[in-house]
Amino acid sequence: MSAEKCDALIIRLTDFSETSKVVTCFTREWGKVSALAKGARRLRSAFEAALDLLSVCKIVFLRKSSGGLDLLTEAQLTTRFQPNGQDLGSFYAGCYVAELLSSLTIEHDPHQELFEAAVTTIRRLEQSRDYKIAVTHFELILLKEIGQLPVFECCIHCQKPIEHEQLWAYWIGQSGFLCSACRHEEHARVLIHATTIQLLHELSHGIDVLPDDLTLTPQQVKESRHILTSTITHIIGRRPKVLSYLSSL
Ligand SMILES: [Zn+2]
Repeated sequence: MSAEKCDALIIRLTDFSETSKVVTCFTREWGKVSALAKGARRLRSAFEAALDLLSVCKIVFLRKSSGGLDLLTEAQLTTRFQPNGQDLGSFYAGCYVAELLSSLTIEHDPHQELFEAAVTTIRRLEQSRDYKIAVTHFELILLKEIGQLPVFECCIHCQKPIEHEQLWAYWIGQSGFLCSACRHEEHARVLIHATTIQLLHELSHGIDVLPDDLTLTPQQVKESRHILTSTITHIIGRRPKVLSYLSSL
């Protein structure tokens, strides 16, 4: 076993025994890590108050060489998630970020940019009343990092550029858009405006590209949700659980 020190965002906590917990973290250096925290349920433990959902911590864990859980030996709190007090939405939006990281990443597969994006998103949720943009932006960066970003440039069948037509159909199974000449009736039940597709494309370029004054029209929110919720549901194989608490997403 080797001891690894890293920055971690806590994305899941499960009671393991009367005194211990299994802590799932998304770390900067190692990607997702699930580790047993012995004694974490005791009032006075080695982890003090660091182990809360969406806390950012410095952790030390022992990597098991074959199978089994890693062992968490230290956790020191850097920042605690303080959702916007006026709005339960920002709390559930944080839980949604945690659920996506837990469901869509694999253990010990590092994605440094995704770690930065998750921490940036958590901070944005604390500051902003409109969690929809922060969450939409995070979903795009996550899909890009795991290689599942929809094709935003052109029709996936004939390569007609998005800007050449106003309304597009989204083909969930192929993560791409179809122009009026290429789509069948079954794809055309919901049509998406080119401007929404172009906005999502722009936001997918990086977590820092979010303009402070960006707002989404109700139509852009509805169309973005259609694309992103259906894509994520398709990849996970079920609808993310926290979405039922985020009524406007
Ligand atoms: Zn086409």
